[in-house]
Amino acid sequence: MKKPEDYRKELKIYNSLTGTKEIFTPLVPGHVGMYVCGPTVYNHVHLGNVRTFVSFDVIYRYFKHLGFKVRYVRNITDAGHLEDDSDEDKISKKARLEKTEPMEIVQKYTVDFHRILDKMNNLPPSIEPTATGHIIEQIEATKAILEKGLAYEVNGSVYFDVIKYNKEVDRYGKLSGRKIEELIARTRELEGQEEKRNPQDFALWKRAKPQHIMRWPSPWGEGFPGWHLECTVMSTKYLGEQFDIHGGGMDLKFPHHECEIAQGKALSGKDPVRYWMHANMLTMNGKKMSKSTGNTLLPEEIFSGNNDKLTKAYSPAVVRFFFLMAQYRNVLDLSEEALESAEKGLKRLWEAYGKIDKIPQTGRDGFDVEKWRDSLYEAMNDDFNTPVTLARMFEGAKAVNKITSGEGGLSHESKALLKKTFKEFMFDIFGLPESRIEGEENKNLDGVIRVLIALRNEARKQKNWELSDKIRDELAALGIKLKDGKEGTEYEIQ
Ligand code: AMP
Ligand code: ZN
Repeated sequence: MKKPEDYRKELKIYNSLTGTKEIFTPLVPGHVGMYVCGPTVYNHVHLGNVRTFVSFDVIYRYFKHLGFKVRYVRNITDAGHLEDDSDEDKISKKARLEKTEPMEIVQKYTVDFHRILDKMNNLPPSIEPTATGHIIEQIEATKAILEKGLAYEVNGSVYFDVIKYNKEVDRYGKLSGRKIEELIARTRELEGQEEKRNPQDFALWKRAKPQHIMRWPSPWGEGFPGWHLECTVMSTKYLGEQFDIHGGGMDLKFPHHECEIAQGKALSGKDPVRYWMHANMLTMNGKKMSKSTGNTLLPEEIFSGNNDKLTKAYSPAVVRFFFLMAQYRNVLDLSEEALESAEKGLKRLWEAYGKIDKIPQTGRDGFDVEKWRDSLYEAMNDDFNTPVTLARMFEGAKAVNKITSGEGGLSHESKALLKKTFKEFMFDIFGLPESRIEGEENKNLDGVIRVLIALRNEARKQKNWELSDKIRDELAALGIKLKDGKEGTEYEIQ
């Protein structure tokens, strides 16, 4: 039987740079270097942002499952991300409006971001560097690009010379497919544009105006780094001049990632990234979820049900399952029907998993577990195709239901493999938390919940509805849902 490592050489990844699916060949055999653009921490992350981070979490988990040694770097943008049509960065602006320290804004939303991703059961990255922690490296990179003659200084700001790069080094626009002539024609006249030689040149370093709170000394006077530069500096510092995978949302392809390629190549002469991966957008009512247009739903709003877009609450596990129902490269639209089907689907898989132990042990197998397991790897190896993998897991669930309702059985080995495979795909790869309490460490919690159920039953017998409802509601608020059935009260942890 094949081990997870044996499936490595069949893994195909869609590379945005070449526009094709390629067999994944890491730079260093057995190792993966992966960088994903993190959030700009000036606001709460919305569900769209969360979708992108869950997509890359599943990719990270799958690499690990296949036995790769992965270094996953995801940054925190806490400086340098300019507000559209302005010369001020988003965090600095928010701090000015709220009359507080920029670092207080950064702290608040970084903590919030981590809390949400924890709830979503995302694994933390191996390194989470911040832009403000790498100002020196960004100044050094700006100096080096200036020395190569691919940037110029004007009034304390330094700009990357796109035209010169395009002529002397490599084609600017090769990731996004944009043509430089069109870019020149299309670039809007933004504030500060008059300093640039060409409108599509971008800032490596910006001079800070007097009202700009976030500022650092540099050879060009006080200022702050450009947003694109932080990702170049932090990815190459921790992963090398060239690394395997760079990810982010589709909307970052241009200009952010295009600029990263140009900066990286200007610095080292090499293409910094082997595989560019872009996660597609979450939409709502067919439109991109976005803070600025108000077409947005916050994670807490969906978990609590406290919103005017849906009729009820959905747990983080259901939301995660909902994300997996589309491949990361496809658009996914959020709707009540889709969430409801995710809720049902998740329940169906959990229930099937719970029934595996009850499968009768026989000599002859009624279901080819090994072939089924192989089909799951095949789907994941096809550019992390989670919807096809889920569809095949449902086939597994169907087989479990059929066998436990009296049709045949499984050998000891097949039963063990079925359970192991379910567990690995549901929990390790998809990161869907277990619904039931399992394991020694949770025996106490199980006991406590059963005591509370007994007390609630006592209260109901005495017609003390106030107390019985209170027990049920407070447990529900903790994500423990009581379900009254014919055989007594059971519970489910969400
Ligand atoms: P930001 O904090 O704006 O830099 O966004 C963080 C990440 O979320 C980036 O990778 C974006 O591409 C991604 N993102 C933003 N909006 C959406 C959306 N509606 N759906 C999926 N990903 C998104
Ligand atoms: Zn980035």
